[in-house]
Amino acid sequence: MQVKCTLCDKIDSLQDNTKEAKKLRNRRTYMYLCPDCRERIDKKTKERHATGRFYLFEENKQHDPFI
Ligand SMILES: [Zn+2]
Repeated sequence: MQVKCTLCDKIDSLQDNTKEAKKLRNRRTYMYLCPDCRERIDKKTKERHATGRFYLFEENKQHDPFI
């Protein structure tokens, strides 16, 4: 399956049987991040975490307009 990174528009292909691919198929929202962007975000997240101003996103509370 082909996926496009939400941040940098890079196209990646995922094995259909990976956890990531299943997740993307189950939720219709297209939120794929390539490893580069994920790493970047991860770093930023940790930096923000360090400032104490970080709020965790609770995945199961996200509003999904497709359900
Ligand atoms: Zn990216």
